[in-house]
Amino acid sequence: MTMNARRALIGTIAEEAKQWRRELHKHPQTMYEETFACGFIAARLKEWGIAHETGIAKTGVVATIDGATTDGPVLAFRADMDALDMPEESGVPWASQTPGKMHGCGHDGHMATVLALGKYLQQTKNFHGKVRLVFQPAEEGGRGAVRMLEEGLLQRFPFDEIYGFHNWPYGPLGEFSICTGYMMAACDFFEIRLTGRGGHAALPNVCNDVILAGSQLVTAFQALVSRETDPLDAAVLSVTNFQAGSGACNVLPETLLLSGTVRTFGPAVRERMERRMREMIQHVAEMFGLKHSFAYNRITDAVFNYDDGVETCRASVTRLFGSESLKVQRPVTGGEDFGSFLEPRKGAFIFAGQGAGDKDAPQRQGLHTPRYDFNDDLIPLVAEYFAEIAETRLAGA
Ligand SMILES: [Zn+2]
Ligand SMILES: [Zn+2]
Repeated sequence: MTMNARRALIGTIAEEAKQWRRELHKHPQTMYEETFACGFIAARLKEWGIAHETGIAKTGVVATIDGATTDGPVLAFRADMDALDMPEESGVPWASQTPGKMHGCGHDGHMATVLALGKYLQQTKNFHGKVRLVFQPAEEGGRGAVRMLEEGLLQRFPFDEIYGFHNWPYGPLGEFSICTGYMMAACDFFEIRLTGRGGHAALPNVCNDVILAGSQLVTAFQALVSRETDPLDAAVLSVTNFQAGSGACNVLPETLLLSGTVRTFGPAVRERMERRMREMIQHVAEMFGLKHSFAYNRITDAVFNYDDGVETCRASVTRLFGSESLKVQRPVTGGEDFGSFLEPRKGAFIFAGQGAGDKDAPQRQGLHTPRYDFNDDLIPLVAEYFAEIAETRLAGA
């Protein structure tokens, strides 16, 4: 098949995929409750005769497409499935029909794109080996990738390499961006509780002041990034909640809740941040005579792109769309659990620009904002890009 014929066929499938995307968008669900998406995906796969299993990590789906011959490597392409707990204000006709839930990260578009890829590959089978489509639930803080791995993804549906993408409203439609090494940060959440003897604010000498202690802790934490992290490494520590007091001006509260997030690249920095936070909390609590608790939860691992995976991605974008469509991505401190797949397997993750229209257009709003919408024009571009990876990596002898 010539490149033009393939582009035309994928274009036709992408027209249909636009409708799937809008249907998925209307029915957003979160955190292992993605039953609509699971059912929708399974119905399309069944219709096209693609072997698949549901129920991996509860609502996840894994499909397998055999090539012209199955003698060859196995490649996987991943789409995340979940929406967000947020209200939608996009005003589009296919807006969320569930109040308080929204596909505000474009995972509806990721699913439609990987489905379009599946339909194309099943029709053409212009490869040798196997392709797996991995539809993963609970990307947004639910450790869906880890759960799929824990439930035996690699044993039940082995693959050699895995590729994924995220729509990127911050870049123009058609611009792909990628880098080798760390591209997205590990994301951790923490929660600290300081407890002491509260009391009359006029008699601080017979109380413990959790607010003063907490304030010192917030200040001390700043040194972990600015003084203890190698300036050429990167880390973020943001305290996002500081809760104490009942509103009364004359009461010293008994407890203070501090919580927030840490973003790091690389296990050494991540481990040090957690260890040093723990030490600082212990010391500050001791200094002020307080009890304390500290929970540090690792939410997602960093996304680390291997050299050869990135080379495959770069070559595919360049062949299809020209080298001007490819940018070097600066690593971002946002999180994405695709990194968990890249620890045991090779492959790479890429951002695909979707910005179009004026600055108020839904396709140019930031991810996780209420007026955002996935750009359907991205579906044929990424489906073709994935097809190119599959057909070149699995070209056979
Ligand atoms: Zn997101
Ligand atoms: Zn996302």
